[in-house]
Amino acid sequence: MSAEQQKRKIVIIGGGIIGSTTAYFLSHHEKFDRERDRITLLEATKIAGGASGKAGGLLALWAYPNCIVPLSYRLHKELADKHGGAERWGYRAVYCGSIDARGRASPSTPAKSNGDSVSLQKRSEKALGLLRAAGVPKDLDWVSTDSLVSYDYMGDPTTTAQVHPYHFTTSIAALAEEKGVNVVYGSATQICKSDDGVVCAVEYKEKKSGEQKKLDADTVILTAGPWTREVWPQAPISALRAHSVTIKPTRDVSAYALFTNIELARVGGKRGRTVTPEIYARPNQEIYACGEGDTLIPLPTSSDLVQVDESRCQDIVDQVGSISDELRDGEITARQACYLPNVSRGSGPLIGETSVKGLLMGAGHTCWGIQNGPGTGKCLSELVWEGRVTSAKLGSLEPRKYGC
Ligand SMILES: Cc1cc2nc3c(=O)[nH]c(=O)nc-3n(C[C@H](O)[C@H](O)[C@H](O)COP(=O)(O)OP(=O)(O)OC[C@H]3O[C@@H](n4cnc5c(N)ncnc54)[C@H](O)[C@@H]3O)c2cc1C
Repeated sequence: MSAEQQKRKIVIIGGGIIGSTTAYFLSHHEKFDRERDRITLLEATKIAGGASGKAGGLLALWAYPNCIVPLSYRLHKELADKHGGAERWGYRAVYCGSIDARGRASPSTPAKSNGDSVSLQKRSEKALGLLRAAGVPKDLDWVSTDSLVSYDYMGDPTTTAQVHPYHFTTSIAALAEEKGVNVVYGSATQICKSDDGVVCAVEYKEKKSGEQKKLDADTVILTAGPWTREVWPQAPISALRAHSVTIKPTRDVSAYALFTNIELARVGGKRGRTVTPEIYARPNQEIYACGEGDTLIPLPTSSDLVQVDESRCQDIVDQVGSISDELRDGEITARQACYLPNVSRGSGPLIGETSVKGLLMGAGHTCWGIQNGPGTGKCLSELVWEGRVTSAKLGSLEPRKYGC
């Protein structure tokens, strides 16, 4: 029997976007035989319960690192075309820009009752002319003319797109399941090695029963995002908490993703500080906005124990409301937090083989894990089924180079 015909037992640890896309591409590879092989996606809490369900979802050809971005950007388009991603997970091309804006006072007070702020959305011909001269696109009409100072182009629908990360990740995991992937809920506690140092099993605590169980494996793929170190301590992955909100604006808004510099209104004669929330318009009348990260609360043991600081969410609501009536008067539909998987050595992500035979890794995707998820899954599936990555050159991201 050739090596290719041998039964494979593959365990993926972590059902975020990286684990789910890996499960998808492993199960859609021509060498996978669902009668013969076993692929298990082991998820501690729920699919997309961490950053993969709470991220912005921006995709960009100008993201980093270069060695995987074009592949992953293309795969997003192909997946959307193949599986109805526009309807299923909100895939669409968008414009993207960076804006400088001045925040207006008392953002949580409606314009009509706020002395200085009355008629903020009144677009005089003169004001509009000045904005056009400053390069502000005509259809970016949901940021107040009174606030907007300048617009710098970052991308357009040929280079920039978006998905709804939660819907994308859960749909991709479901598509993998349809192809024969077994989703198991439990928390990996140990990766076991045989006497000759080769991966042979994963021990885990089953979610429902709390019982300690074991999955035999010839290949283990570690995709536990910011929790990667809990399972494999030498991985140079750290965690950074970030808050975000979603808002139903008062009307449909044009498809822009905005990186902002907002100078908040003066308080007590003091110049307001500058804040930089990112604001992404989504289909179905939804706007996503996220703020800066914080290191106040260390990573909890699981995604369902992440603490949400309501005041940080309110700061984001106030900041984005200070430059847009549509957002200020909209309905807040989610206040949430999650942990970004950062890489403490190099810029990451880490994708490929570790120094332990049979142990692969796809982790540390920082702020571009949604963009780079499909490319990571595709490359890891090639490594498993073909023994080498053929779709991209990922030498610089090899986990072994980072002590894993
Ligand atoms: C505020 C914010 C906005 C962002 N916006 C964007 C964006 O616009 N575009 C973009 O490309 N990226 C964005 N990102 C980055 C992106 O969200 C992450 O890079 C990506 O989600 C990481 O995916 P992951 O699968 O590695 O990790 P996670 O999503 O954290 O998934 C890890 C999974 O592993 C599970 N797990 C952990 N430990 C175990 C264990 N022991 N056993 C079994 N399972 C385990 C967890 O429960 C979790 O489900 C953003 C991130 C943040 C924080």
